[in-house]
Amino acid sequence: MDRFSVVIAGGGVAAIEGLLRLRRLAGDAVNITLLAPNEEFYYRALSVKEPFALGGAERHEIRQIVRDSGAEWVKDTLAWVDPDGQVVHTGGGAEVGYDALLVAIGARLEPIYEHATTFRDAEADALLTGLVKDIEGGYTKSVAFIAPDGPVYQLPLYELALMTASRARAMGMDDAEVIVATPDAAPLSIFGSAVSDAVSGLLADAGITVHAGTVARVPAANRLQLAPGGDELEPDRIVALPRVVGPEIRGLPGVGAHSFVPIDAHCAVPGAGGRIFAAGDATDFAVKHGGIGSQQADTAAAAIAYRAGVEVEATPFQPVIRGVLLTGGDPLYMEARLVGGGSFESQVSDAPLWPSGDKVAAAELSGYLDRA
Ligand SMILES: Cc1cc2nc3c(=O)[nH]c(=O)nc-3n(C[C@H](O)[C@H](O)[C@H](O)COP(=O)(O)OP(=O)(O)OC[C@H]3O[C@@H](n4cnc5c(N)ncnc54)[C@H](O)[C@@H]3O)c2cc1C
Repeated sequence: MDRFSVVIAGGGVAAIEGLLRLRRLAGDAVNITLLAPNEEFYYRALSVKEPFALGGAERHEIRQIVRDSGAEWVKDTLAWVDPDGQVVHTGGGAEVGYDALLVAIGARLEPIYEHATTFRDAEADALLTGLVKDIEGGYTKSVAFIAPDGPVYQLPLYELALMTASRARAMGMDDAEVIVATPDAAPLSIFGSAVSDAVSGLLADAGITVHAGTVARVPAANRLQLAPGGDELEPDRIVALPRVVGPEIRGLPGVGAHSFVPIDAHCAVPGAGGRIFAAGDATDFAVKHGGIGSQQADTAAAAIAYRAGVEVEATPFQPVIRGVLLTGGDPLYMEARLVGGGSFESQVSDAPLWPSGDKVAAAELSGYLDRA
């Protein structure tokens, strides 16, 4: 009898975590094909360090990861899915059949402000090293970091602001002004009040001015308008986060204006016959965070292993948001648990709150990278 075949589309945190977890749970009971265009797994969360010459995003060869996990690698993209035929069609025109499919292809980044520098993590060094040098040299006196409304990666907004302020102080540029503008009611409010209060305190101690609950407009390179307050600022430089939008794959249902893939409590895509699963930024879960994507990948891997006939407990997804905020000084460890009614119970510490203490809390991936 043919072995149960699983296609995992993607080459980021969610896909690799899903690959490693599925292999550990199901062993030889499944054939796994990784469908990913990238030659390297890239640890995007560390990219904010690059402009400050503090190291950079780790990279690991996909070839090695698939070899270590006994999978096959198809270096191509997922173009569209035929759920009835149980086939994925690749960008290169190939067809790959599956018994179960895990879609973990991430989201797309949409620049919102024409007159601001959009922070894209893959180009962090090229985009912001010049700005950091200008701050250090006293040529740039004020910089605003802004987030558009809609889904964004939350942490880099505050990390970039804190690290910039810290660097300016270290270089004796005490008159440098750092501003943050966010539509959120308070910094990192998604993590709950303990985290939000701690981060607000760090920002205040660093002398950073925070405009929370505001939607920013950037009508020209040095003009920042904030609604509803009506403040008009003229920072020397404006750096904006991109909006995170869904992947829009034909054959998969999408929801909302940004077409993220809907998932149920087992990370299965509703209406796809119980054979298609999704994890990570591609899904409609509101928080775009690697630690969440890896928990979803673990949940989906258990459900797929169960479907393949492996005796395994497939427990539903119970989100815990874990994050490490880089500050330019000691990092801040943050953890938030959904306690019902949409509210979070959160805690902060200057010591790791989970075993690995990694910036992206991913159970299998962390262990693998430690050994790699
Ligand atoms: C600067 C920054 C700091 C962050 N800090 C943290 C943090 O501290 N902690 C945390 O948990 N999260 C953090 N995040 C968020 C975290 O990086 C993302 O949530 C995480 O990378 C999402 O993982 P993913 O696998 O879903 O998507 P991605 O990491 O985006 O990976 C998607 C993968 O799919 C591949 N792909 C794309 N299209 C296709 C296709 N059509 N077919 C096949 N493959 C495709 C891509 O090549 C890529 O390999 C941060 C993000 C940024 C940008």
